[in-house]
Amino acid sequence: MTLDAHKETLEFKAEVSQVLDLVISSLYSNKEIFLRELISNASDAAEKLRFEALTDEQLLEDDPNLRVRILMDKDAGTLTISDNGIGLSRQEVVETIGSIASSGTRRFLEAMQGAQKEGSEENQQATDNALIGKFGVGFYSAYIVADKVTLISRRAGLTADHGVRWESDGRGSYTLETVEKPSRGTDVILHLKEDEKEFADSWRLRAIIGKFSDHIAMPVEMQKETYQTEADKAETEGDEKQDSEKQEQPPEYEQVNRGTAMWMRAKSELTDDEYKEFYKHISHDFEEPLTWVHNRVEGTNEYTALLYLPKRAPWDLWEREQKHGIKLYVKRVFIMDEADKLLPHWLRFVKGVVDSDDLPLNVSREILQHNRKIDTIRGANIKRVLNLLETMAKDEPERYQEFWNQFGRVLKEGPAEDFGNRERIGGLLRFSTTVSEGTQQNVSLDTYIERMKEGQDKIYYITADSPAAARHSPHLEVFRKKEVEVLLLSDRVDEWLVSHLHEYKGKHLQSVTKGKLDLGDLADKEDQEKTEQAEKEHGDLLKRLKESLGEQVAEVRVSTRLVDSPACIVVGEHDMSANLARVLKAVGQDAPDTKPILELNLEHPLVKRLESESDATKFDDLGMILLDQAQLAEGGQLDDPAAFVGRLNKLMLNMFISGG
Ligand code: ADP
Repeated sequence: MTLDAHKETLEFKAEVSQVLDLVISSLYSNKEIFLRELISNASDAAEKLRFEALTDEQLLEDDPNLRVRILMDKDAGTLTISDNGIGLSRQEVVETIGSIASSGTRRFLEAMQGAQKEGSEENQQATDNALIGKFGVGFYSAYIVADKVTLISRRAGLTADHGVRWESDGRGSYTLETVEKPSRGTDVILHLKEDEKEFADSWRLRAIIGKFSDHIAMPVEMQKETYQTEADKAETEGDEKQDSEKQEQPPEYEQVNRGTAMWMRAKSELTDDEYKEFYKHISHDFEEPLTWVHNRVEGTNEYTALLYLPKRAPWDLWEREQKHGIKLYVKRVFIMDEADKLLPHWLRFVKGVVDSDDLPLNVSREILQHNRKIDTIRGANIKRVLNLLETMAKDEPERYQEFWNQFGRVLKEGPAEDFGNRERIGGLLRFSTTVSEGTQQNVSLDTYIERMKEGQDKIYYITADSPAAARHSPHLEVFRKKEVEVLLLSDRVDEWLVSHLHEYKGKHLQSVTKGKLDLGDLADKEDQEKTEQAEKEHGDLLKRLKESLGEQVAEVRVSTRLVDSPACIVVGEHDMSANLARVLKAVGQDAPDTKPILELNLEHPLVKRLESESDATKFDDLGMILLDQAQLAEGGQLDDPAAFVGRLNKLMLNMFISGG
C-alpha cells in the first residue's frame, strides 16, 4: 500500500455546493439527463484508453473490449455506471471531480448571481436554464437523483492497489481513500434518493439509454434479462440442479445501444432527434443545437465532418483557455478533444466531430500543426460553416439574428484572422446603425450599401466605448442632417475589426472621427467654399485658441461635421482612434498619446461668445471647457476632472452674478 492510502476528508472548493444546488433545481424537470452525462463521461474515458493503448498495448491488460456497463441493485437502491476506460488517479480525482471546471467556476457563479438579482421570480427558472445551458452539465448531474455518490476508479497502467474511492453527499466535503481495485476504469455508484428508485428499473433504463446513448460509438451493456418462456419453465422444472448451476455463473451482459459511430451513418437514415441527442452527448449542452451540417468527403483525403452551431454562447467563450469543440477521430478511433487545428479561433463556438480515414492513428498535436490533410479539412470546414450561416441569414433571418446575438462578437474576429474569407465574413456581419433602433445589431453591410445616398461612396462608421456614446456623438450631427447612415460600433472587438476590414464590395470603410471630414460627392461645393472662407475670416480665433490650449491639441480648425454642438475632437487620418487608445490602455497596453485636433462650430453661440471675449483668463477658461466637453462627449476621460468642474462652476457663478 502506498503512503496516501489514508482516508482523508476534503472540503469542496467553495463554489461547488452552490453550483450543485443550481444544477439540481434547474434540471429537476429533466432529471433523466444525468444518465446521458455519466454515460458520456464513461464512453469518453473508454475512448481515451483506446487511444493511449495505440502506443502502449499493455494498458489494455487482459480486458481489451472497451465498453460501458449499467448495473442496478434494487435492494440496495443503487445504480452503477461502470467503464473499463482510462480511469483516474487519486490526484486526478481531486483535480477533476473535486473542483468542477475549477478555473471559471467563480466567475460563472458571479454571473449567475448577477442574473438572479435582475430576474423576477417567474423568470427565475428561465434564467437558471439559460445559465445551466451556458455552463454545461456533467458529473454533478448525478445529484439530481442521488443523495450520495461513490466513485471508485483505477487509472490504467497503475497496479490494483492504486485504486481510489471518492464519496460525497454533495454538501461541502468529500472523502478520499486508496483502495484495491482489480479492474481498471471507473465505477460511479449512485445511491438513489428515496423517490428516485424508478431509476433502478431495467426497462426504464433501457428506454433512457435508447433515447440518449444509441448513437455513441461505445457499446453500453446491461445485465441480460432472464426471461422465462414456457419452454424454459418446463426445462427448469425438470432439472433443478442445472438451474442452480446457472446462478453461479458470472452474469451475462448484452449490448443495449446501437453502439456505432453516429456520424458514419447516411444522412438519409438519421432523424433530427438523433442529431440533437448526439450534439448533447458531445457538447454537454443542456439545450438543442441551433443547426448542423453533416458531410462525407470521398477521394484522396477521405473524412466525415459533423459540425453543430450551439444555440447559446457558453459562459467561457471569452476565457483564454476556452475549449474548442471539435473532436478528432481516425477511422472511428477517438484521437483527441479540442482539436483546434480543425477550425480557426474565430469559429471556436462550433462543436462537432471530424473522422478521418487517411490520417495516421498515431497523429499528435504536433503533427496536426503541419499537415496538409488537416489544412484541407480545416479550409473545407470553414466553407461549410460559412455556407451554413449564409443560407441561414438568407432563408431564416430571425434565426440568424439569434445566432448573431450570441456569437456575432466572435465572428467579428474573422476578418483579421482570415484574409481569404474576409469578404464572405463581411457579408455575415450585423451592425447597429443611426437608422436602426435600439442596440440590436441587425443591419448588414449589404443593406447599408442598398441604402446609401446618391453620391455616397463610403461606408461610414463611428467607434465608441458604449452604444449610447456612439449614438450621441457630436460627430454624427452632419450625417443626421444629410440623412447618411453611420454604423455604430461599440464592441471591444470592433476596433480590431475595422483595422482589418478596410473595404466591403469595393466600398471603403471610413471612420467619421478621423481626418478631415470627407463626404465625397455628398459635400456641397458651397459648404466647402464657405468653410475655406471661414478658416480665413476666423483665423484669429483659431490661432488664439491654439495658443491658449498649447500642447494639449495638435490643431484648432473649423468643423464641417457639427450642427448642434460647439466643438468636437478628431484624430488625424492615420492616427489611432481615441477609442482604440482607450481600449488598449484599459487592458494595460501601450498606446501612443495622440494629440487631438479640436474642431469648432462657428455657428454655435458659445463659440461666438468665445470669439468676442477680450478677457484673457475668461477666454482660456471657456476654451478649456470646450475642449474638455468635447473629450467627454466622445466617452473619453479627463486628465483633471476637478479642474473642469472648477471652471464650470466659476462660469455658472459669473452667469448668476451678471443676471443670466
Ligand atoms: P466535463 O466532462 O464537461 O469536463 P464533468 O464534470 O462531467 O465535466 O467531468 C469532469 C472530469 O472528470 C472529466 O473531464 C474527466 O476528466 C473526469 N471524469 C469524469 N467521469 C470520468 C470517468 N468515468 N472516467 C474517467 N474520467 C472521468
